[in-house]
Amino acid sequence: DQIANQIAAGEVVERPASIVKELVENSIDAGSTKIEIEIREGGLTSIKVKDNGEGIAEDDVEKAFFRHATSKLKDSKDLFRIKTLGFRGEALPSIAAVSSLTLKTSANNYGRGIEVKLEGGKLFEKKEIAFVKGTEIIVENVFYNTPARLKYMKSLQTELGHIIDYVNRLSLAYPNIAISLVHNGRLILRTTGNGKVDHVLGAIYGTSVAKKMIEVKGENLDFKLSGFISKPELTRANKNHITIFVNGRYIKNYLLNQALIRGYKTSLMVNRFPIAVLHLSMDPTLVDVNVHPAKLEARFSKESELIKFIEQAIDKTLNRHTF
Ligand code: ADP
Ligand code: MG
Repeated sequence: DQIANQIAAGEVVERPASIVKELVENSIDAGSTKIEIEIREGGLTSIKVKDNGEGIAEDDVEKAFFRHATSKLKDSKDLFRIKTLGFRGEALPSIAAVSSLTLKTSANNYGRGIEVKLEGGKLFEKKEIAFVKGTEIIVENVFYNTPARLKYMKSLQTELGHIIDYVNRLSLAYPNIAISLVHNGRLILRTTGNGKVDHVLGAIYGTSVAKKMIEVKGENLDFKLSGFISKPELTRANKNHITIFVNGRYIKNYLLNQALIRGYKTSLMVNRFPIAVLHLSMDPTLVDVNVHPAKLEARFSKESELIKFIEQAIDKTLNRHTF
């Protein structure tokens, strides 16, 4: 099973940023309103994610490291209406298999918690600790026992870049969660959790950029769109500044990005990319996120309608403005 975990780890844990992503998604699924991320050396030395979510009950702590042990799917029908970010029960065992991992958690309000330590996926310590409700996971020595993968890691700066990119998008997706990112003791990003996407944009890009954003709204029978897109005067954006969430989940979809860019360019008649943060919501049965374990891709059953909807919503929003 150790081998199976290391193989699964290859899919789930591509690089430090994927570890951050999996840990943070668990924190979100646990209903956290505050998530603190602290990394060292681009995440290669250590990654710590601390949340104030519901915690893990003492009896379930070890189970969390079994493969396919998820607390999130009650029956097979749930697969078709996934509301949580995780559902495969693969992340924790996979991460644990390729690192030294410490988990502290408490699911009660009495300040009593549990700490477990694993090395290469094997539990070697479990003890009671004083701990406030929530969960803290520390992952150290990532890929220490998979040297081939360690070799693939790029420079600290590259790995850090991937983490920052992810945390930025995450903060935009969850303006209601106070999120902070610290690298080697230096604060990189902090959001307040006050629910305002434009404040998050300000925290990421600076307040002058945040002031150049226009609110986007659109709705038809199948889809609902909301978010922000930059005014044409903002010239420093490129393709990477487009962030689209589907039902709260960040996805990469070439066709949706193109629809957005087309709507923007047609409407403004400029050959420029916008900074955009868009939330799309639709009935969960219209979207399949179960394409790849990294879960960034999505397929839509009404794809052409969706593309047309986005293009028109952007065009309409911008046409209402005079620049
Ligand atoms: P999945 O998210 O697909 O269920 P994971 O391997 O990511 O699987 O996590 C396994 C289980 O551990 C989760 O189903 C959840 O019950 C528990 N868990 C992990 N992280 C947290 C957390 N931060 N807060 C509460 N429970 C957690
Ligand atoms: Mg998970």
